Amino acid sequence: MSIATPPTALPTLAGLGLTVPTGLWIGGEERPASDGSSFGVVDPSTGETLTTVASASVEDALAAVDAAEAAAAGWRAVAPRQKAEILRRAWELMTERQDDLAALITLENGKALGDAKGEVAYAAEFFRWYSEEAVRIQGTVETAPSGTNRILVTHQPVGVCLLITPWNFPAAMATRKIAPALAAGCTVVLKPASDTPLTALAMAAILEEAGVPAGVVNVIPSRRSGALSSKLLADPRVRKVSFTGSTEVGRMLLAESAKTVVNASMELGGNAPFLVLEKADIDEAVAGAMIAKLRNGGEACTAANRFYVHSSVVDEFSTKLAAEFAELTVGAGLDPATRIGPLVNAEAREKVETLVNGAVSEGARALVGGSSIAGDGYFYEPTVLTGVPQTAAILSEEIFGPVAPIVVFETNEEAVRLANDTEFGLVSYVYTTDLAEGLRVSEALESGMVGLNRAIVSDPAAPFGGVKQSGLGREGGHEGVLDYTESKYIAVSW
Ligand code: NAP
Repeated sequence: MSIATPPTALPTLAGLGLTVPTGLWIGGEERPASDGSSFGVVDPSTGETLTTVASASVEDALAAVDAAEAAAAGWRAVAPRQKAEILRRAWELMTERQDDLAALITLENGKALGDAKGEVAYAAEFFRWYSEEAVRIQGTVETAPSGTNRILVTHQPVGVCLLITPWNFPAAMATRKIAPALAAGCTVVLKPASDTPLTALAMAAILEEAGVPAGVVNVIPSRRSGALSSKLLADPRVRKVSFTGSTEVGRMLLAESAKTVVNASMELGGNAPFLVLEKADIDEAVAGAMIAKLRNGGEACTAANRFYVHSSVVDEFSTKLAAEFAELTVGAGLDPATRIGPLVNAEAREKVETLVNGAVSEGARALVGGSSIAGDGYFYEPTVLTGVPQTAAILSEEIFGPVAPIVVFETNEEAVRLANDTEFGLVSYVYTTDLAEGLRVSEALESGMVGLNRAIVSDPAAPFGGVKQSGLGREGGHEGVLDYTESKYIAVSW
């Protein structure tokens, strides 16, 4: 591992070619919080405050719902073709500004610029995909089995939606919700994560430029997320909550939504197993592991969290993976030489430290890495652990950092049992050159998604989501837009 020495002139917030509001974005206008509250946004590579952002009060959140409600009928009535053209324009604007948006993401999140550029492309693609879907929200007509009438089914917009997003993909987790919601004809109030509110605010300005009418998309950063969401979920005008974040907060929001039976979609935590079967091509598996583990510096719900490797190939896999990790350059995300940026904040780094130290105290061995990096910013060494005991917390909790714990298995049945031994079920990865074996194992894995000889599953055209306590509902694909609709059934005789 080497530490990047930053060039002298890295991009700054003020130097970006973007409008980045720092107030609340309500009804197409920027405004301060009603009680004047604000909070700082920190650069994780230095620990320094980049800027301050307004912190919405409950009254501000209700004002955002007022704006979304006022815009709802008008947006619903906009022709699908016109909605599609606005969404497509949003894709174009994001794509034109990819470099500046990526720099903004890196400034507030810390991820390496290459990861941030990848995120902008992925995030923008949701607008293109849902511009194409907006004109294809198809209903059905069938004859009832009795022959007495027709069954007519249409999909209507669910109404005003509360969207709550995490810090790890500040652009993509927002567009994965906003794009299908707008395509379906809904209006939204977005509460971005407090660590990364700037990207969401910059996106609000881009959406306005793309032609989204005032009030259709409202963005309310806030340090008072619990109070805000409780109030909004009790408001009869809010008809849906779509949340991406931790399973812990997801459970609380589901309990709150139950009180008023609000339609809820949940994209929650992961604990992805990465299986290297006996017949895997080890070089392919190592290349896949580098991506599945290290995209976003390991801060991804889809990050490979546990490596189960067949005993006949574990030495080769571990040695090659450790050699690759040892070559990584860690540094400020904006430095073009950096492959691994800092973790998002001090708390996130402490969690990684605790998990690694716990595994080592239980007998695991660090082939490479194993410590925090001293100095400014929240850096942690890329780490490969072998001999990790099944009891180690690192195998049951999300690591959210550049750490790969390796466990040996003897049979595919054992690998599947270990992989499924978790409350989570978002994504799994399987490497083998025997496709039939790979498909059999993929079917046995309890996860909403599987990467079979493939380290990236995320695709706006595919249904993303988890089973068990990793979530409810799907984002992306044809399914994604239906999450923002209610089926309306009309029994009709003619
Ligand atoms: P988090 O702590 O659950 O926060 C997510 C969002 O919820 C933030 O906007 C946060 O606001 C807000 N929030 C926190 N407490 C809340 C409460 N009591 N009521 C309402 N909102 C509340 O998660 P995170 O640390 O930002 O993100 C990491 C987690 O997200 C990981 O578990 C990861 O696996 C998961 N994730 C899942 C997916 C997926 O698609 N399945 C994708 C990405 C991430 P504040 O920032 O103001 O606290």
